[in-house]
Amino acid sequence: ERVLSSEAISNDLSFEQSLRPQKLSQYIGQDKVKSNLAVFIEAAKMRKETLDHVLLYGPPGLGKTTLAVVIANEMGVNVRTTSGPAIERPGDLAAILTSLEPGEVLFIDEIHRLPRAIEEVLYPAMEDYCLDIVIGKGPESRSVRLDLPPFTLVGATTRAGAVSAPLRDRFGVLSRLEYYNEEQLTDIIVRTAQILETDIDWNAAVEIARRSRGTPRIANRLLRRVRDFAQVRADGIISLSLADEALELLQVDRLGLDNIDHKLLKGMIERFRGGPVGIDTIAASIGEEAATIEDVYEPYLLQIGFLQRTPRGRIATPLAYEHFKLEVPNK
Ligand code: ATP
Repeated sequence: ERVLSSEAISNDLSFEQSLRPQKLSQYIGQDKVKSNLAVFIEAAKMRKETLDHVLLYGPPGLGKTTLAVVIANEMGVNVRTTSGPAIERPGDLAAILTSLEPGEVLFIDEIHRLPRAIEEVLYPAMEDYCLDIVIGKGPESRSVRLDLPPFTLVGATTRAGAVSAPLRDRFGVLSRLEYYNEEQLTDIIVRTAQILETDIDWNAAVEIARRSRGTPRIANRLLRRVRDFAQVRADGIISLSLADEALELLQVDRLGLDNIDHKLLKGMIERFRGGPVGIDTIAASIGEEAATIEDVYEPYLLQIGFLQRTPRGRIATPLAYEHFKLEVPNK
């Protein structure tokens, strides 16, 4: 399993659960999103109304689920959690909606994966808190309207573009989560170390932050692995030199790139003179699927400016050459 995966991997889940901030004040970073939400939450509470529906979008591991839980806590209500692929039939969604308590938050992860027929059940539920149910079959059938308790839908997606326009339009609040900077990730690592009761030097936290690809999930995972090294190889305290050594053994370089990133970039540089080269060609040359490269490997390389997308294909930038101490060829 890839230690730098931004998706949750084995035994991440219960670990992550124990680290989740519960309140907005404990949620580090995402300042614009937080300050907007704080206003909407306070206004809804003053009016004794439910909070408007919220769509959170952004890459995996940036804290969408965490934020949904925080929103519910701030509103003083429970959160029910499900995901787009888990809801297979309209009846599944109807069962969830009719069992909500007034004001509750319903969190739907990967909302872009809801089938269209199920999405349509959501429209009147979001707009008027009601369900239109068809009873019977053929000419005998009729539609009945069921009232629902008011609720707040929090949807999360990694692909805002894949959410259909009618669904997107029914959210009152659309918030985009951004990659975290080094300082924010350092704060997250220090906070996690406190929860884990682990001693960590500040500069070691900064070093782990630097290699965490802007993603709290990766930061927390790297901290946990480094902590294992500290326990087994040292006195349990995470110093800078120990963190460096552990991260090297984990094959995570100074910018948070691993051997798959190296293979991809070096392949482009050495075999295709840095490109432009088509995504399918890159995929074939490293034995991965094009979609995996686009969804998993490429986003961070684009984010740090090592790769560029052009109409003629991908280009490895001079920054990438510099990282590998290679000369940019004259073309
Ligand atoms: P997915 O794409 O899998 O749905 P996600 O964006 O919902 O991921 P979370 O599960 O919310 O990500 O967060 C992953 C981990 O990072 C959690 O353990 C959470 O505690 C931590 N985390 C995320 N954001 C923050 C934050 N702003 N402050 C502190 N910890 C955070």
